[in-house]
Amino acid sequence: MIPSAFAYHRPKSVNEAVALLAELGEDARPLAGGHSLIPIMKLRLAAPSDLVDLAGIADLKGIREDGSDIVIGAMTTQHELIGSDLLAGKVPILRETALLIADPQVRYVGTIGGNAANGDPINDMPAVMLALDATYELAGKGGTRKVAARRYYRGTYDTAIEPGEILTAIRVPTPPSGHGHAYEKLKRKVGDYATAAAAVVLTISGGTVASCAIALTNVGETPLLAEEAAAIVTGSRLEAETVKKAMAAAEAITAPASDRRGTPQYRTKVAGVLVARALDRAKARAA
Ligand SMILES: Cc1cc2nc3c(=O)[nH]c(=O)nc-3n(C[C@H](O)[C@H](O)[C@H](O)COP(=O)(O)OP(=O)(O)OC[C@H]3O[C@@H](n4cnc5c(N)ncnc54)[C@H](O)[C@@H]3O)c2cc1C
Repeated sequence: MIPSAFAYHRPKSVNEAVALLAELGEDARPLAGGHSLIPIMKLRLAAPSDLVDLAGIADLKGIREDGSDIVIGAMTTQHELIGSDLLAGKVPILRETALLIADPQVRYVGTIGGNAANGDPINDMPAVMLALDATYELAGKGGTRKVAARRYYRGTYDTAIEPGEILTAIRVPTPPSGHGHAYEKLKRKVGDYATAAAAVVLTISGGTVASCAIALTNVGETPLLAEEAAAIVTGSRLEAETVKKAMAAAEAITAPASDRRGTPQYRTKVAGVLVARALDRAKARAA
């Protein structure tokens, strides 16, 4: 399949990119790794007039520490997340999740920014960003602003990003050392998107859960923060009965569609099971 005609632009700076997007109007789209955008253009489900390729903007690359945060440039690839010693040491759930995305070929070019900005609930990174309470840094012609990941997703492909804005970086508060984490994903085969998935980030003190965040992938129109499930386990020792209640609370907020990955009932149950598994693994990893 061949996409419809478009003009290609390759700005060298964020300012140049946002000026171009403002000038070209709403039919122009930013291009990152192209692994979500190009396939839908080939299927003619998207026909942007212009692609503004962000690949030439050095400022959008890299992973660095900034005080108590880790800042990840939007054009950092999933492959680079996997290779980062900083992330492996401080936010290992990002490495674990990136390893579960697609296959090496996709991960070499697919970016964290494209994955998070897009608003596709099937993508893996958004739920992890909810669990980590990350903040998205956006730039537009009018300047820059920050939006909490927990307020960014409004519906399928409907996000807080305004036309002409780009996601420049993701700011993750560094979880306390000794925290536990897990991203549990069920997929039909290696390289597939999630039937459902669950992210857990927690801390344990004296055998009791001191803090916990739980988020779900692909069981609703957006990634879901399972606040009640997290509240149920906080203060507990993750006894079987408590985990059962948390599973039920997580299942209660899901509203999955029926697709080739399963019926809504099946995917809801899978989400609950994955929450239990993720809690178990996060607990085992917590110091
Ligand atoms: C075979 C295959 C399997 C896959 N499996 C998985 C999987 O299991 N899990 C998963 O999470 N993903 C999966 N993906 C998607 C892959 O991770 C994508 O690369 C990713 O979702 C989008 O990133 P990208 O850099 O390719 O973005 P692009 O495709 O370039 O862009 C995606 C969308 O985001 C917008 N965009 C991109 N960057 C920015 C930015 N910085 N600011 C504002 N808007 C921006 C674009 O305009 C476009 O609308 C798969 C893809 C393929 C082809």
